[in-house]
Amino acid sequence: MDSSIDEAAAQPGGAGRTPPATPLPAPDPAMPAATEPAGEAAPGTAPSPATAPAPVPATGGAGEERSAVAPASLSPSRASDFMQCPLLYRFRVIDRLPEKPSEAATRGTLVHAVLERLFDAPAGERTAPRAKALIPGQWDRLRESRPEVTELFADDPEGERLAGWLAEAERLVERWFSLEDPTRLEPAERELFVEAELESGLRLRGIIDRVDVAPTGEVRIVDYKTGKAPRPEYAEGALFQMKFYALVVWRLKRVVPRRLQLVYLGSGDVLTYDPVLADLERVERKLHALWEAIEQATRSGDWRPRPTKLCGWCDHQAHCPEFGGTPPPYPLPVTAPGAGTV
Ligand code: SF4
Repeated sequence: MDSSIDEAAAQPGGAGRTPPATPLPAPDPAMPAATEPAGEAAPGTAPSPATAPAPVPATGGAGEERSAVAPASLSPSRASDFMQCPLLYRFRVIDRLPEKPSEAATRGTLVHAVLERLFDAPAGERTAPRAKALIPGQWDRLRESRPEVTELFADDPEGERLAGWLAEAERLVERWFSLEDPTRLEPAERELFVEAELESGLRLRGIIDRVDVAPTGEVRIVDYKTGKAPRPEYAEGALFQMKFYALVVWRLKRVVPRRLQLVYLGSGDVLTYDPVLADLERVERKLHALWEAIEQATRSGDWRPRPTKLCGWCDHQAHCPEFGGTPPPYPLPVTAPGAGTV
């Protein structure tokens, strides 16, 4: 085992909570450059709170035409959508219904931007005060790139709620320094867009918050969460996204990442998992089964609602039969029997 990997973490093939992580320097020039994702499953650029489903960025204003598209690839967020509720997946991927920004998800986007930009500074200057000083500028940039987020504070003329929201962003950024030491880290990649095609033709894509590569070539995939760590019985669900990314990295580089690391800024926990090849093969089989179900629903137009307590986070209750709503007309051609039964 490479001594530069956090030895205190879980054993290979097992998950565990670790003390603050140790460094993994040296970039890997073989990693593809980061770009923005596009198309279908434009994965939410905002991370979600631990209990909330990952959001889809709101697009456009009322009355804007959105062309329906058949699903063409899978991201962790949209795979989770389908597992949570097939009808939610349809609304997000095929109908592309707009969604309102939420305070929690927008704060997550802001905190992610700050943590990413902090690594622009020389290692010795990556301090908590410097990170917190980045918040106002990154908030300005976020409002420029996604003007809809200003709606969040439209009813806050005195700016009190905004001040509290920004203060919480500061707390989350500050907590990061108790979990990792950025002066000892030199990420190989930040906000890395990855995409890989499986032998079946299924395309997987997503954005990895941070990739660390040790001089020995061992890869650590890191994801920041602004929510709280899940209870141990729900850790597997949280790790699904990470194993998805590990599968993509393995497919791209034929390297099984040495460690998957979830950093929960909301609760100050670090959850790690050291995957083995069998984990990735299992995830691949699961994704194929999922994709088959998505293709079947796409052909038939049969997207069932699956109500759970997460419906409270869903923006589409007005279109959902479980809440007395009616879905918009199905916009794709139906080529299988049993169509349109939602
Ligand atoms: S309200 Fe619930 S059941 Fe309906 S689409 Fe949303 S998540 Fe699915």
